[in-house]
Amino acid sequence: MQREERKVKELVIISGKGGTGKTTVAASFAALAENAVIADCDVDASDLHLILHPVIRISNQFFCGHSAEIRKSDCIRCGACLAYCRFDAVKMEHDAYGGNEFSIETSSCEGCGACARFCTVKAIDLNERYCGEWFVSDTRFGPMVHAVLGPGAENSGKLVNLVRVNARKTAGEKGKSLIITDGPPGIGCPVISSVTGADAVLVVAEPTLSGIHDLGRITELARHFRIRTFVCVNKSDINMEMTGRIEKTTIESGAVFAGGIPYDSEVNRAHDEGVSVIEHGKGGSIVRIREIWNYVSRNI
Ligand code: SF4
Ligand code: SF4
Repeated sequence: MQREERKVKELVIISGKGGTGKTTVAASFAALAENAVIADCDVDASDLHLILHPVIRISNQFFCGHSAEIRKSDCIRCGACLAYCRFDAVKMEHDAYGGNEFSIETSSCEGCGACARFCTVKAIDLNERYCGEWFVSDTRFGPMVHAVLGPGAENSGKLVNLVRVNARKTAGEKGKSLIITDGPPGIGCPVISSVTGADAVLVVAEPTLSGIHDLGRITELARHFRIRTFVCVNKSDINMEMTGRIEKTTIESGAVFAGGIPYDSEVNRAHDEGVSVIEHGKGGSIVRIREIWNYVSRNI
């Protein structure tokens, strides 16, 4: 790792599930930060681009694993591939003359290569599997690295990692001191890929019973990876009792409670206009988001 890259801090904004306001906070932080790269690691359901409107400068295809394909002109229809495939990806159909014809269903193929190995006439190709694209773009708040996962594609953890690596590279090239990452929801593989090695996470929780449950799982994950953890509650005034319980749970878990953001109907209006609520300039949430940003950015 180069010397200048080591200075770059990385803050990942995550939540126990989708729809808690994670992207609202990420977009607001992007608007408030002065020297940041923005990374969207929510590659399964990215929506930060709807607010930041990135102009793509570099576009790259993402391949994950392989899928097999039969060259019909070379196939002698022996059926060995059908027998050797453990994933039921090889399909047999009758052709117009009553013979058997073999093909491989890409969505079921795991790319293990067994069929290609046992095909005596080498009629099966193992092709790289296209799984999506990742981009380096410009936004009105600075560079952004983001991605889209192809329909039905898996392995988003690898794509998340690719976004992070290139966000760090971009930060080094552009002299940026911070990476603000909109992470995926939940605690699965893409989240682990998003937070591993980050300097801090900000968990956006909701003031509900399931919000407390999700928070427990996510703070445990962050503790496991020894990542400094901040927690804020979106729409905190909807249920002050739950917000109080989240604050208590946060403190007991060793994380830092960064504050609550009140329900604000202007947030939706801002997003309808395609801007962050900070730029929109109206609404009761702005002051609290600013305070949380000031606190978190000073304490990463
Ligand atoms: S093993 Fe090879 S030759 Fe036999 S059916 Fe499959 S693709 Fe055709
Ligand atoms: S590569 Fe593996 S999973 Fe895919 S068709 Fe061949 S044997 Fe089946």
